[in-house]
Amino acid sequence: MKQINTDVLIIGAGPVGLFSVFQLGQLGMKSCVVDCLPKAGGQCSELYPEKPIYDIPAYPVTTGNELVENLKNQIKPFNSEFLLNQRVDQVNHQNNKFISETSSGNKVSSKCIFIAAGSGAFGPNKPPLENIEEFENTSILYNVSKKNIFVEKTIAIAGGGDSAVDWAIELSSITKKIYFIHRREKLRAAPNSVKKLKELSNEKNIEMIIPYQIDSIQGRNGKIETLTVKNLSNEAKRLEVDYFLPFFGLSTKLGPISEWGLEIEKKILRVNQTNCQTSKKGIYGIGDICSYPGKLKLILTGFAEAAAASHHCYNLVFPDKPLHFEYSTTKGINTSN
Ligand SMILES: Cc1cc2nc3c(=O)[nH]c(=O)nc-3n(C[C@H](O)[C@H](O)[C@H](O)COP(=O)(O)OP(=O)(O)OC[C@H]3O[C@@H](n4cnc5c(N)ncnc54)[C@H](O)[C@@H]3O)c2cc1C
Repeated sequence: MKQINTDVLIIGAGPVGLFSVFQLGQLGMKSCVVDCLPKAGGQCSELYPEKPIYDIPAYPVTTGNELVENLKNQIKPFNSEFLLNQRVDQVNHQNNKFISETSSGNKVSSKCIFIAAGSGAFGPNKPPLENIEEFENTSILYNVSKKNIFVEKTIAIAGGGDSAVDWAIELSSITKKIYFIHRREKLRAAPNSVKKLKELSNEKNIEMIIPYQIDSIQGRNGKIETLTVKNLSNEAKRLEVDYFLPFFGLSTKLGPISEWGLEIEKKILRVNQTNCQTSKKGIYGIGDICSYPGKLKLILTGFAEAAAASHHCYNLVFPDKPLHFEYSTTKGINTSN
C-alpha cells in the first residue's frame, strides 16, 4: 500500500488526463495519475487504437495509439506517479487537503483534484454467473498481467473479439491446454488472427468449444474446478480448468464519482466554463466528463480545459507564489520539480 503526497491528483489516464500532467508540470506542480485500466490512453487506446484521427491540430492524421504514445513521451520529464489497474473510490476533504483512496488501498493526499474520467471508469463486462465474485482475481481474470501463472495449466478463454483470440494465440505456447469458447461460429477478431487461431487449434493444444455459452462455474475457496458450457440444444460439457479468462469487452460506469457531493447532470459534471472548477473548490472536471454551455466532446477541447484548470488551480497549490504567465517557447520544459 502506497501513501503519496502530490499537488494534483488526476483521475483518469485518457488523453486529457495525460496532457494535464504536462500543463501542471510546466507550472511547477507535481501530479499523480490513477486509472482503473492496466494501461494509459482511455478511449483512444481501448476503443479505437488503430483508427485514424484527423482533428488533432498539426497532425493531418494520427491514430489512438500514436497520440497516446506521443502524449506519454511529452510528459516523461515530469515524472508523474502512475497508479494503474485501480479505481479512485473515495475522496475526503481534511485540513485543506484531499485524501483519496483507490480500490487497491493506496492513498493520495493532494491539494487539488482533476477529474478527467471520460464517461466513467472502464471495467470488464462480466459473464452473468451467480457466484462469479468468489473466483474473481484468483481463478477468473479479466486481463493478463503475469503470463507465467499459466505455464502448464489448463485454461478457458471466452469471447469472440481481438483480446480473446490474441491471448489464446499468445498463451498457447506455455499452457497445457486452452478451451476457446464462443457462442457464435463467427469470430469478430482481425481475420489474420482468426486464421492463426484456427491453424493452432488443428495442430496444437487449443480446443474450440463453439457455439457454446458459459452456464456455470464449479469450485471451492476461490479455486475453479470445472466450467460448464451449454449449446443451443442445451447439451452440456464440463471442462476441467485451472483458470477462466472471459474477454467480453469493456463498459463504463460513472461509479463512485457520483457520491462525492459534486453537481452532476445526466452523469456529467457541471463545471465553471472559464476554469473547469466543479461545484467544490479545488476539484476540477476536464475532458468528456465535464459540461458547460457549448461544450464539445473532443480531444482538443479537453486539452484546452487541462490548460485552463492548471492555470486556475495554481493559486490553490501555491497561495504565496504569484503566477507569471509564460509561453513554453520562453521557458522551455520546466523540470524544476
Ligand atoms: C470510436 C471513437 C472515435 C473517436 N474519434 C475522435 C476523433 O476523431 N477526434 C476527437 O477529438 N475525439 C474523438 N473521440 C472522442 C475522444 O476519444 C474523447 O473525447 C476523449 O477520449 C476524451 O478523453 P478523456 O481523457 O476526457 O476521457 P477518456 O478517454 O474516456 O479517459 C477516461 C479514463 O478515466 C478512467 N476513469 C474513470 N473513472 C475513474 C476512476 N474513478 N478511477 C480511475 N480511473 C477512472 C477511465 O478508465 C478512462 O481510462 C472518439 C471516441 C470514440 C469512442
